[in-house]
Amino acid sequence: MRDYINFYINGQWVVPENRNKLAVINPATEQVAGQISLGNAVDVNLAVKAAKESFQSFSKTGKQERLDLLNAICVEYKKRSAEIAAAITEEMGAPRWLSESNQAASGYLHFKSAIKVLEDFDFEFQQETALIRKEPIGVCGFITPWNWPVNQIGCKLAPALATGCTVVWKPSEVAPFSAYLLMQVLHEAGVPKGVVNMINGDGPTVGSAISSHPEIQMVSFTGSTRAGIAVAQDAASSIKRVTQELGGKSANIILDDLSEEAFVKAVAGGVKTMCVNTGQNCNAPSRMFVPKARLAEAEQIVIETMQKIKIGNPDDEQTFAGPVVSQVQWDRIQNLMQEGIEEGAKVLTGGLGKPEGFDVGYYVKPTAFTEVQNDMKIAKNEIFGPVLCLISYDSDEQAIKLANDNDYGLSGYVSGLNQNRVNHVANQLRAGMIHLNGAQMDRTAPFGGYKHSGNGRERGPQGFEEFLETKALLGTG
Ligand code: NAD
Repeated sequence: MRDYINFYINGQWVVPENRNKLAVINPATEQVAGQISLGNAVDVNLAVKAAKESFQSFSKTGKQERLDLLNAICVEYKKRSAEIAAAITEEMGAPRWLSESNQAASGYLHFKSAIKVLEDFDFEFQQETALIRKEPIGVCGFITPWNWPVNQIGCKLAPALATGCTVVWKPSEVAPFSAYLLMQVLHEAGVPKGVVNMINGDGPTVGSAISSHPEIQMVSFTGSTRAGIAVAQDAASSIKRVTQELGGKSANIILDDLSEEAFVKAVAGGVKTMCVNTGQNCNAPSRMFVPKARLAEAEQIVIETMQKIKIGNPDDEQTFAGPVVSQVQWDRIQNLMQEGIEEGAKVLTGGLGKPEGFDVGYYVKPTAFTEVQNDMKIAKNEIFGPVLCLISYDSDEQAIKLANDNDYGLSGYVSGLNQNRVNHVANQLRAGMIHLNGAQMDRTAPFGGYKHSGNGRERGPQGFEEFLETKALLGTG
């Protein structure tokens, strides 16, 4: 049992003002794994006060001082990485291999990558008659989700610290264990008091108190589009900058010119990518577009690949995908699948209910639907589970049109033999990140979406810009 009831404010672990507790459930066992406290606006006020005071000195630190701090965080993070990975598995069900090699590792890599960006980043440059200076924006509010808990905070904290900002952070109440450990890492690394403050709690209380706080100059939110809208609305009256990393329903377009072997690779790769983290990825390739003439071929590959996805206990080495995070999430997935069936989509493999032998734990059958129409609910909405929609198309132009005919625009995936065709399709997609021919994620490339998938970019130099104000000193040239 993890008793993570304190908050971290002004460089110390403090007993919260409110004594209400929330139990944290292990999704594999459905048992209580620990508890946190639920904060309120009083805690947020204390944290903002500390962040505002520390901004006076932290914003004036030099590049080298901040590089030293980021390096110290990396050293401490490495020591606790295995522990962080175990906490992620316990709180949200990611299998050990994923928690270790990707989930916990990604938090660390964001600090590493911010070091590289900071080394080369110009905070001052001459532009005609003006000296342009980039200055830290101020106190930043961070609100983060449960699906990639340390990844999502790492890509906010690292650039904030690199640029001289101070932070008030609310982790997800669903997966707060790894956040607590990360806060210990920051403390051990010597982050100056008040520079990073962490308060647990729910969205409508602590999240909203952060979004609406008049002394927070920017709020960076990652989570659902629903909550992202609430954050922007709460933020509006204080004119703060709002960046939002929201949901997705990304298209994976497979072109008709691939050889049999390359087609298998593209379709099977799409299925596996869909099922990583049990489908709980904002950028999951959840709509697979295949040429009508090759639909039957694609269906066969999807069935074979999905049936090999090993669902299981996250602690088991053989497991590819664990349970989904919660009963709420399990119900949501089942309801959307039911709606898909009612709207006439055909279950190719998987389907409703738990996989055989998994009565305990929030396990979902890896599922593929075929004969999906782009305007069905399962094709329009983010399901956030291991559920794939197969949609057929007649021409490249139709595939592009269907791919773009969705409120979201986070990622896109295109595979084909002819590079010009691949490029043409990729260029037409209204989404923030397009993977060409199975290209993997690049942690230095800007991450973010178009349309309802959000505003702003994380990672790389573009990620730094979100934390900076621009001052023009005129008459300096
Ligand atoms: P969620 O929106 O329910 O919660 C995210 C965070 O927002 C939590 O900390 C929650 O407490 C808080 N919150 C909820 N309501 C709030 C409110 N009214 N005001 C302020 N804060 C509020 O999302 P989730 O279920 O934790 O995460 C899954 C969602 O996150 C999916 O939609 C997924 O696509 C999205 N996501 C997006 C990205 C991205 O980079 N685009 C990355 C990861 C997850």
